[in-house]
Amino acid sequence: MQKYISRQNFTKLLDQLIATGTRVVAPRMNAGTPLYEPLASSAEMVMDQLPRRSAKEAYFPVCEDIMTYEKEGQKVSITDIDPARFPETVLVGVRPCDACAIPVLDAVFSWDYKDEFFLERRRKTTIVGLACTTSDDACFCTAVGLSPADTKGSDLFLTPLEGGGYVCETFSDKGEALINDHTSLFNEPNNATPLPLAQPYTEKFDLKKVKVWLDEHFEDSSWDEIALRCVGCGACAFVCPACHCFDIVDEGTEKAGKRRKNWDACGFWKFTHHASGHNPRDQQPKRYRNRIMHKFKYYDDKFGQTLCTGCGRCIRVCPVGIDIAQIVEEISKK
Ligand code: SF4
Ligand code: SF4
Repeated sequence: MQKYISRQNFTKLLDQLIATGTRVVAPRMNAGTPLYEPLASSAEMVMDQLPRRSAKEAYFPVCEDIMTYEKEGQKVSITDIDPARFPETVLVGVRPCDACAIPVLDAVFSWDYKDEFFLERRRKTTIVGLACTTSDDACFCTAVGLSPADTKGSDLFLTPLEGGGYVCETFSDKGEALINDHTSLFNEPNNATPLPLAQPYTEKFDLKKVKVWLDEHFEDSSWDEIALRCVGCGACAFVCPACHCFDIVDEGTEKAGKRRKNWDACGFWKFTHHASGHNPRDQQPKRYRNRIMHKFKYYDDKFGQTLCTGCGRCIRVCPVGIDIAQIVEEISKK
């Protein structure tokens, strides 16, 4: 289905959703930084800036309780957190580099173990993607085979038009329901011209060649050259729409506490630290090698997909200037 919505009606749509109790998450300014966060009103939304962190927090929180426990004498009571309580969410203004990562993550969270915390939030989230009309030097979605108008992962996709408003195209029942539930706000498409798309780095990497090199170079001196300066801060994983490692820890006392699921990162020294004291990734280049291997080899081996959408966020935040696009490009030319 294809429809048109004016900018004014789009803000009405968001306000109606908020008024009826739907959680609407969209880019908004937080202390001068654009982030995907729940809106109190459509007036908070900023559509023209790339959020610093990815949209994954809307359906995969940084930390969440999965169980609570209490002990009284010899009696221990455990209460599971019921995923059914998660709110219906409309995630709006999602850049293609964020939306495209969502079905990639579905593969791992519904593989051997069905992660109901992730899957229930996904079921309850409608993704409203937005074509990118601006990019910066770090963007390279086109190099990994995506584009600023890629609709993968979106239930409904918005293309901004000259003079305001959007073409809305649906790609799922959820996207159609969003339009059908608010028909008075949508019109038939007109002849308005779409705004020019962003023009990120366009040379396409040969990802097959990258994988072949990775298949054959687990041990290679290049890893030291690439990553000896990595400080293991984990920022690259935390801002990434496709990184998804987490740890489960108990927090509390012997009397009461919570079991929590927290984001983790393979860049951290403790990530592979065994209880014996042994650490198979005892040096930082080994940890960074895992980051590249996971994104461009292991995930491809397992799920036939690449774990990088070229959003460029890890490049923007890395405190020592490690540039994943440059690394992958260099590997593709070896
Ligand atoms: S690895 Fe970097 S560029 Fe690729 S999706 Fe993650 S944050 Fe974006
Ligand atoms: S952001 Fe940079 S320094 Fe920090 S873990 Fe990632 S690559 Fe290493």
